[in-house]
Amino acid sequence: MASFFRRQPKASKEHEIPADLWEECPGCRQLVYGKELESELWVCNKCGFHFRLTVWQRLQITADPGTFIEWDRELPIHDPLEFPDYRAKLEEARAKTGMTEAILTGTCAIERIPIGIGLMDLSFVGGSMGWAVGERVARLMERSAEEGMGVVVFCASGGARMQESLVALMQMAKTSGAAGRLAAAGLPYISVLTHPTYGGVTASYAFLGDVILAEPGAAVGFAGPRVIEVTNLKMPPGVQTVEFQYQHGMVDLLVPRKEMRETLGRILRWCTENGRE
Ligand SMILES: [Zn+2]
Repeated sequence: MASFFRRQPKASKEHEIPADLWEECPGCRQLVYGKELESELWVCNKCGFHFRLTVWQRLQITADPGTFIEWDRELPIHDPLEFPDYRAKLEEARAKTGMTEAILTGTCAIERIPIGIGLMDLSFVGGSMGWAVGERVARLMERSAEEGMGVVVFCASGGARMQESLVALMQMAKTSGAAGRLAAAGLPYISVLTHPTYGGVTASYAFLGDVILAEPGAAVGFAGPRVIEVTNLKMPPGVQTVEFQYQHGMVDLLVPRKEMRETLGRILRWCTENGRE
């Protein structure tokens, strides 16, 4: 099996923190040493703030080493409206992140259980969902169903991709249908909400998991806070946090990053042993 370490992006790693530098924590404003941060899985040990991860960092702390194989990397660029500068923006995002779209999909093992996995990255055009993201998610669900594996998706998205207009919105139906096919095959789907998850992704596969987990401190919602502000609707404080959603039954469990891998392993093992109810 190909090691995912060999699939690391060749280009710049804008959001990765060099290990020998001090970094100011956005949560508590204190300085954290880079190497220490890495050993703490990029969680501030002073205030618990969860730093944003690249998909490669996420794989490193989640998958069994050397088990990741990417699927559908070569899907073509889809530009139905020939939107100005869109192709250039995608090429730039590809060079910056080492990904070909805002979601990386494939297969790996977590605690020796083989699964289909999807990982989204906000640094690729805001983690937005166009045709290629929807197609990758749908193929991930369908292929995993065929191969008898459950699916884990780490969500992070600004919503549907405006450059693809209605085609982007149609991905909500496509991915929801694919999640239904995974369910019909009796296989589990675990969605993990990470900061931030918004819009069309929230309104489709992010909230369709049989089990919905979330990293503490993540913002989730449909419309963003600025959109809500202009509607003048009165919202309870903290409505767009996973903590609020957990208190109101929309999220099953808040899982600190250090416990995520083990929690996923436990749920997947339970599903493997007991089947889907
Ligand atoms: Zn902190």
